[in-house]
Amino acid sequence: MSAYKTIIIGTGPAGLTAAIYLARANLNPLVIEGPEPGGQLTTTTEVENFPGFPEGIMGPELMENMRKQAERFGAEFRSGWVNSVDMSERPFKLSVEGLGELKAETLIISTGASAKYLGIPGEKDNVGRGVSTCATCDGFFFRGKKIIVVGGGDSAMEEAHFLTKFASEVVLVHRRNDLRASKIMQDRARSNPKISWSLNRTPLEVESGPLGVTGLKVRNNETGEDETIATDGLFVAIGHTPNTKFLGGQLETDETGYLIVKPGSTETNVPGVFACGDVQDNKYRQAISAAGTGCMAALDCERFLENVEASLIEA
Ligand SMILES: Cc1cc2nc3c(=O)[nH]c(=O)nc-3n(C[C@H](O)[C@H](O)[C@H](O)COP(=O)(O)OP(=O)(O)OC[C@H]3O[C@@H](n4cnc5c(N)ncnc54)[C@H](O)[C@@H]3O)c2cc1C
Repeated sequence: MSAYKTIIIGTGPAGLTAAIYLARANLNPLVIEGPEPGGQLTTTTEVENFPGFPEGIMGPELMENMRKQAERFGAEFRSGWVNSVDMSERPFKLSVEGLGELKAETLIISTGASAKYLGIPGEKDNVGRGVSTCATCDGFFFRGKKIIVVGGGDSAMEEAHFLTKFASEVVLVHRRNDLRASKIMQDRARSNPKISWSLNRTPLEVESGPLGVTGLKVRNNETGEDETIATDGLFVAIGHTPNTKFLGGQLETDETGYLIVKPGSTETNVPGVFACGDVQDNKYRQAISAAGTGCMAALDCERFLENVEASLIEA
């Protein structure tokens, strides 16, 4: 079996942007779609902050357009789930559910980071109908409305604080009295007059009506009684899991599991393996930043292949 010059794993904005660049450079990348073709934006409705669409664009349509753009230049797409990768030597060997073993001279990892959910009834059914995991993405839709943020870490404090720009009121719900968040982030949230606190409450169920979320049912851990906090929106801010399990620890990660790339590039610790998008981005996690690093990964990969070819000619 001959090796592909490049295999891109994942078809979110990062992987598809890398595919567009590599296909236009005549490198015929193979793109493996994975469990969620089109990535996270296929789970949302309107995207209003991706440049180039003054009226906004539906998430699935945006991703379909990116895919078509990559196909137009010759990127090959295949459905499959990468189970493992052997990076001990090049070409790298991939074991792909549904496709068997594949080989690649270079790899681009763009497998994203999945938001953690509470796992309570009514939550997943109402994603896009009031339930969100991204304040930057969806805060704007909640102007003048009441919002609940669930979580007790820095990101929950950050999201709550950010959401007060739009919401009439933000209620922070956490299952314990103590917060994991750093003191400085807690102080900032506590001094914000628009934020109120509902601590020591365990979320039980998201309540909704025909127009979306109406409330969050919680258990008061002190009294054991259940109550419903009325709300128009629920932001779940309990963290993300970068999708890196299939890499079996061969690439360096930070303490939260995000892939580490060399500053200012998409190079990982294994030469020929590049990472882009949310899987290496603990900070921004936006479609446009994912697409930007996808472009970087393609250019880094192209240069790597050129250098390999040049060294073969010299040898
Ligand atoms: C509900 C929601 C709304 C959002 N709204 C906005 C918004 O309005 N604006 C904005 O800028 N951002 C928004 N975001 C964030 C944005 O979607 C992400 O930042 C972006 O999708 C990250 O792109 P990515 O390419 O890194 O990864 P993802 O989009 O997460 O794509 C990951 C890809 O990797 C594949 N994959 C994973 N594991 C494997 C494997 N083992 N084998 C093969 N393939 C695999 C998946 O199938 C998928 O195709 C939103 C996110 C969510 C969840």
